[in-house]
Amino acid sequence: MNPKYAILFDPVPIGPVTAPNRFYQVPHASGMTEANPRVRAAFRATKAEGGWGVVSTGAVSIHPSCDDSPLPFARLWDDNDVRAHALVTEAVHAHGALAAIELWHGGAAVMNRSSRIAPYSPSGIPWAATHVGFMGQQRPRAMDAGDIRDVIRWQAAAARRAHAAGFDIVYVYAGMGYLGHQFLLPEYNQRADAYGGSLANRVRFVRELVEATREAVGAHCGVALRISLEHLRARPSEHHASEAHEAVALMADVPDLWDVKLDSSPTDCGASRFRPEAAHEPVVDFVKQLTGKPVVGVGRFTSPDTMVSQVQRGILDLIGAARPSIADPFLPNKIREGREDEIRECIGCNICIASWHDGVPVRCTQNPTVGEEWRRGWHPERVPPAGRSDNVLIVGAGPAGLEAALVAARRGYEVTLADRAAETGGRLLFETRLPGLASWGRVRDYRLQALQQMGNVTLYPGSELSAAELLAAEHAHLVIATGARWTRHLYSAMEIPAGRLEQDGVFTPDDLAAGRLPEPPVLVYDFDNYYLGGCVAEHLAAQGLAVTYATPAGHASAWTFMTNEQPFVHRALHERGIGLITLSTLRGHRDGVARLEGVFTGAPREVAAASIVIVGHREPRDELYRAIMAHSAAHADAGIKSVSRIGDALAPGAIVHAVHAGHLWARQLDAAADEACLRDLPITAAGPGAAYVAPNGPEAG
Ligand code: ADP
Ligand code: SF4
Repeated sequence: MNPKYAILFDPVPIGPVTAPNRFYQVPHASGMTEANPRVRAAFRATKAEGGWGVVSTGAVSIHPSCDDSPLPFARLWDDNDVRAHALVTEAVHAHGALAAIELWHGGAAVMNRSSRIAPYSPSGIPWAATHVGFMGQQRPRAMDAGDIRDVIRWQAAAARRAHAAGFDIVYVYAGMGYLGHQFLLPEYNQRADAYGGSLANRVRFVRELVEATREAVGAHCGVALRISLEHLRARPSEHHASEAHEAVALMADVPDLWDVKLDSSPTDCGASRFRPEAAHEPVVDFVKQLTGKPVVGVGRFTSPDTMVSQVQRGILDLIGAARPSIADPFLPNKIREGREDEIRECIGCNICIASWHDGVPVRCTQNPTVGEEWRRGWHPERVPPAGRSDNVLIVGAGPAGLEAALVAARRGYEVTLADRAAETGGRLLFETRLPGLASWGRVRDYRLQALQQMGNVTLYPGSELSAAELLAAEHAHLVIATGARWTRHLYSAMEIPAGRLEQDGVFTPDDLAAGRLPEPPVLVYDFDNYYLGGCVAEHLAAQGLAVTYATPAGHASAWTFMTNEQPFVHRALHERGIGLITLSTLRGHRDGVARLEGVFTGAPREVAAASIVIVGHREPRDELYRAIMAHSAAHADAGIKSVSRIGDALAPGAIVHAVHAGHLWARQLDAAADEACLRDLPITAAGPGAAYVAPNGPEAG
């Protein structure tokens, strides 16, 4: 290990338990619930194996009055849920790490769509009710004194069950708009009793939750308080620098650990496109000055130098991570073993967060094994040895080809990777030059650096290969990873790509990647709805071109609400002076004028546009695959055992899909049969029909 990183491996006491090092996987959503307990346990255990000293669950509901359906969430409602959580703690403990559980009551930020209990809140005010996940037509009820006592009792009961499940650290959650946080904010807490008004009153509920948790399990478990400080830091306080300072001062030594964060997913889990590493520091930098207890915080930390700086400058005691631990579960071990240049750094794309919004187990662009640890038996660092064949030729060194090459080479195959471009990276070569996307280059850099160090890999940049060359290449397995191309398809009234606008002045992102610059003014017409349309508009505006962005969707880059980017996309377009037209389809383009039509109204509209960039539909670039398959009769004589199409060349998708496809292909090479994909099932102590406790009814826990 580099001695300057030794400080990261200091143990840190947290109440009655001790974290073995400063690497702390903070609570984060995984999309895994009681429905897939083994998937969940293997996912968390892999991080413990990789050296994280503390491994936490995601939010775990303490009671049916906190029901986030249909989003995936975990429960600890009664003893039936204990065993499934114990799978996690046993697996984490097996690697010497501590297990933490984030007990959670969502208050007015959950809609209780399944339990049908009127949501709880301090004063009957709904939380962020325009966010799609929070939209519901039932307003929350204002909690009375009995409700407050109930929630505190439910927290204590859940804490006891957490201890029974083997957890070492038990959380109280007062962040991200959930119930504890709502009590802290005067906008949501307008109570006239001892729980509202002054900040000393507003922290009372949170303090009582912490005290009840300590009383329940404090002799055995550390009690952590997770708190959002962004809005409070912006609020003035009479005797402190801000209300955030005052809140921390009021509860300075109440918890055993402070877990400090920002207020909402878009700011707390900001995409790298808009937020750099350590972006939380200006909000949380004061906490350690006010408490003697350890402090953990996040900041998409992937650089050990940044981590050391956080500790040495007294910002954090524990280096919290969610995304960096997903992208590389072995990040701590790599630092400890002096292999920090092998860290698979998170690129900050937030596909992991989109998985949660999708309601499925977490996926990661950089780490295709995530969520597959139990189901497919994939390990992020180990691969099975090579099978019978000895050599592989991969055409196309984009994300799919690079990942296929890396995994095949690690398995021990002789790998040849060719690309017609002078550099490897495929789509990344252009996309990482767009505003905000530089760190996505880590997808290429991590793989290329590893490949360049392996003796069984030959790279051929600048090599466009034909079917005849493939037939003569004497390789057993051919992989076609030649990507996709953007088309000039328009968007039909049926909401599908239809008809093409093949005429002068109409560009695609491929034209821009090839160095062609459209004549201004430019209309960027986006029905891809992910990042590229917005990025291309920004890219052109940054070069001084007049740009208008139009989309049939209701928002710019409509799908990016899934990745926490959307508010910042709108802000970026606005700041660059880019005109925004939503809910409009492009009908035609002539004489410097683009004709648009309102999606719902049919109202015509004309926009001055010397050129148009259509960011819409992609088609596989699969000519090479079709050409080689046209010679399938000659494959056996040429020694070819298989020809595969992977990534965008098969089905155009996001980078996460291409990396996963490359990984899957290489894992399955020479497999006797299709890889088994195991199906997980719930574990309960009791059979179906076990009762849970209705609110305000008798409480068993
Ligand atoms: P994916 O996301 O599926 O990896 P990309 O579009 O990022 O796809 O990468 C595809 C790569 O394949 C590009 O770098 C492109 O230059 C390369 N390529 C396409 N056709 C050929 C060919 N006939 N010979 C060599 N390289 C090719
Ligand atoms: Fe990081 Fe993207 Fe992976 Fe999430 S999906 S952990 S943001 S690389």
